Amino acid sequence: MNKKSGSANYSELDDVYGSLELSKTLPKSQFPTEERDPRNVFSAIRDELMLDGNSRQNLATFCQTWVDDEIRELMDLSIDKNMIDKDEYPQTAELESRCVRMLADLWHSPDPENTLGCSTIGSSEAAMLGGLALKWQWRKKRAAQGKSTDKPNLICGPVQICWHKFARYFDVELREVPLEGDRLILNAEEVLKRADENTIGVVPTLGVTFTCQYEPVKEISDALDQLQKDTGLDIPIHVDGASGGFLAPFCAPELEWDFRLPRVKSVNSSGHKFGLAPLGAGWVVWREAKDLPEELIFNVNYLGGNMPTFALNFSRPGGQIVAQYYNFLRLGRNGYAKIHNACYATAQYLSREIEKLGPFEILFDGDSKSGIPALAWKIKEGAKVSYSLYDIADKLRSRGWQVPAYSMPANREDMVIQRILVRHGVSLDLASLLVDDFKRTLEYFETHPVSVPLSDKDGTSFNHS
Ligand SMILES: *Cc1c(COP(=O)(O)O)cnc(C)c1O
Repeated sequence: MNKKSGSANYSELDDVYGSLELSKTLPKSQFPTEERDPRNVFSAIRDELMLDGNSRQNLATFCQTWVDDEIRELMDLSIDKNMIDKDEYPQTAELESRCVRMLADLWHSPDPENTLGCSTIGSSEAAMLGGLALKWQWRKKRAAQGKSTDKPNLICGPVQICWHKFARYFDVELREVPLEGDRLILNAEEVLKRADENTIGVVPTLGVTFTCQYEPVKEISDALDQLQKDTGLDIPIHVDGASGGFLAPFCAPELEWDFRLPRVKSVNSSGHKFGLAPLGAGWVVWREAKDLPEELIFNVNYLGGNMPTFALNFSRPGGQIVAQYYNFLRLGRNGYAKIHNACYATAQYLSREIEKLGPFEILFDGDSKSGIPALAWKIKEGAKVSYSLYDIADKLRSRGWQVPAYSMPANREDMVIQRILVRHGVSLDLASLLVDDFKRTLEYFETHPVSVPLSDKDGTSFNHS
């Protein structure tokens, strides 16, 4: 045995699992003292990652869990690219600018060649930037009128957590319209009830996290046009198109939700959701350059050139942006439509199959005109079943499927629903295997009735990612 001196126990002949290093547990808290064999450490970490489960079976997430081999190769080639360093990596920066122009075109900006926008680490950062621009524009307008600027508010429906963060971090009152009865999304009437001179903007969501539906952007925009006619209040819209921004243009092109509506001043979307880029890609684009207040743009010159930046982060990886550009060229509008329409068909298939099982009422069935490729259901009023949706989620988990159950936000916390997201890589055949497991789950509960159904207090937590 070729033992080296000192405390390293290393031999090129050792089988990884026969090595002395892996005969002990590895450090979990104390900063390690000695070096270790990279093969051994790699194997131990790879094996630990196995316990994370299989992301392709995670039907809770909106994020990409499948990429093609070319993307893996581009990510590898881009491992050293720093998105912020536009002087050292001018071509990566150029690819980012092309993506912004293409998105401005896709979302019908009146001036896609010249408008502004940027990549971010995800929709959360993009939403913060969109929200900040709204706050700055409102403040400038109010200051010019000599009016107070200390009570900004933002109107929205049941939003993703990033808007709660925006409101708290940047000191804006969030007027989140509560749900009522069967109304599980925002509507124009509720917006008007809350709009006033301190409203910095309205944020409809294209693809609400909870029920997957599109909120009626045009109806809200029309109502705000009328409000302006009646009162002079001119309230802009930012659309949270985290999912829908990469779906509606391909699968519901006639739906007017974007810069076709002059009141829509900015849009955020997640490249790493239905943009099909690997994790770490978001976008925010303004309708026209003048919609982004210039005070928010920083000019940095210490990396070599003079670079205007608008972002919360500084250094961040460039590979996701390169991969995003690859997707745009590789797929085009037709390719995106093909992939997403296949997902819609699978979502509709699942919704028919789950409805046929009997005890469930479908709340959203994967209709491409009114929401994202997903479905959501609840247990029918008065259905005689022993289990809760949390029990179903728990049982499906034993086959690796993550099908989250959760309660709705205010004022429908009483309502528990379950949801499946259908993404690139969830084929109809894979979905049919899930249906088989769903049937087996209900059969199991027939023969083994649940005596104490699980509830949201049992720590069956999940993230609306
Ligand atoms: C996912 C999501 C977000 C947050 O996006 P990230 O890309 O995960 O930061 C914001 N809003 C909506 C509607 C979402 O679905």
